[in-house]
Amino acid sequence: MKIAIVPGDGIGREVIPAALTVLDAFGLDIEKVPLDIGYGKWERTGSAITDEDIETIKECDCVLFGAITTPPDPDYKSVLVRLRKELDLYANIRPFVPLKTVKLPCAGKFDFVIVRENTEGMYSGIEELHEDAAYTTRVITRKGSERIAMRACLLAKERKQSITIVHKANVLKSDSFFRDIAIGVAKKNGISYTEMLVDAMAYDLVLRPQKYDVIVTTNLFGDILSDEAAAIAGGLGLCPSANIGDRYALFEPIHGSAPDIAGKGIANPIAAILSVRMMLEWAGKNKEAESISRAVDDVLAQGIVTPDLGGSYSTSDVSNAIAESVSKFIGKQ
Ligand code: ATP
Repeated sequence: MKIAIVPGDGIGREVIPAALTVLDAFGLDIEKVPLDIGYGKWERTGSAITDEDIETIKECDCVLFGAITTPPDPDYKSVLVRLRKELDLYANIRPFVPLKTVKLPCAGKFDFVIVRENTEGMYSGIEELHEDAAYTTRVITRKGSERIAMRACLLAKERKQSITIVHKANVLKSDSFFRDIAIGVAKKNGISYTEMLVDAMAYDLVLRPQKYDVIVTTNLFGDILSDEAAAIAGGLGLCPSANIGDRYALFEPIHGSAPDIAGKGIANPIAAILSVRMMLEWAGKNKEAESISRAVDDVLAQGIVTPDLGGSYSTSDVSNAIAESVSKFIGKQ
C-alpha cells in the first residue's frame, strides 16, 4: 500500500507523526510519501498545493491528512475542498462512539455515523463577491445525492437497516430534491428511513444521541452536525473521519489545525490514531484496526491522556503508549 502523508499545519504536524508511530508498530509493507501542503507552504511559496502534489497523491492509494489552516484571505482556496473534489471523495464518514472511561457531557450509550456529502452543496465553490452582496450557489445533483444515499444504505445494511435523512426541505427546494432522491434509494435497497429537519436534528442529537444510527445529509449540514457530535462524544481530539471515493480515500481527524495549542506538544493524537484505524479497515486490515481500538481503550484506562481530557501527558506520551499497547496485542494474536 502507498500512502501520501500530509501533516499540513498547526497540530497536524504533531498528531500525524504521532499516529505514524502507531502505524509503524505493525511493521506492514507500506510506502509512505511525505508531502508538504498547506498554509505554511502558501506563505512561503504563494501556493498551498501544486498540480504536481495532486499528481503525486493520485499515484498513491490513499492519504493520511492532518489539518490545514484556512486564513481569512479571499484569494486562499481551501486545500481540503480541492482535494475532495479532485479525488472525488464524495462520502465523508464520521463515526461517533464514546470511548471507554472518557467523561461525556450527556448520559447514555450511543453509536452513530454521520455520512456527509462531500463534494457539492454549499461547498460548490461557485461564489460571487460584490460590493453590497455576496452569493454562494448551493449545488445538489441527482448523481451526488444518489451515491451518498447509496453509501448510507450500504452502511445501514451492516448495522441496523435504517437511515435518518437530514434536510431542510420545508424551506429549500434543493433539499426537497435531495430528500426525495435519498428516500428513493432507501426504498430500492429495502432500508427503512426517517426524516429530520436539520434544526430539529441539532437539538435532538444532544438530547437523544442513542436514537440514531446512520445519519445521511448534505455537505454543510454534515459539517456542522459532526462538530456537534464530537462534543457529545467527548471532544474534537477523539474523533476520526474517512473521505471515501470509488478510487481514492483520505483519512483525517475531524479537528482543525488548532493554532491555539500548536507547538506545545499537548494535542490529543487519538483522533489521528483512530483515523489510521479507519484507513487500515478500509485496506482490509481488520485485525490491525481492531488492535488499535483495544490499545486506545487500554491507554485511556491507564489514565495516560492529554490536557483536553484532564491529563498532563504529552502527544508523544500518548502515542508511544498506544504503539506499545498495539505491539502487546498483536504479539498476542
Ligand atoms: P482551524 O482554523 O484549522 O479549523 P480551529 O482552532 O478553528 O482551527 P479546531 O482545530 O477544530 O479549530 O479546534 C477547535 C478547538 O478544539 C480549539 O480550542 C483546539 O485547541 C481544540 N482542539 C482541536 N483539536 C484538538 C486536539 N487534537 N487536542 C486537543 N484540543 C484540540
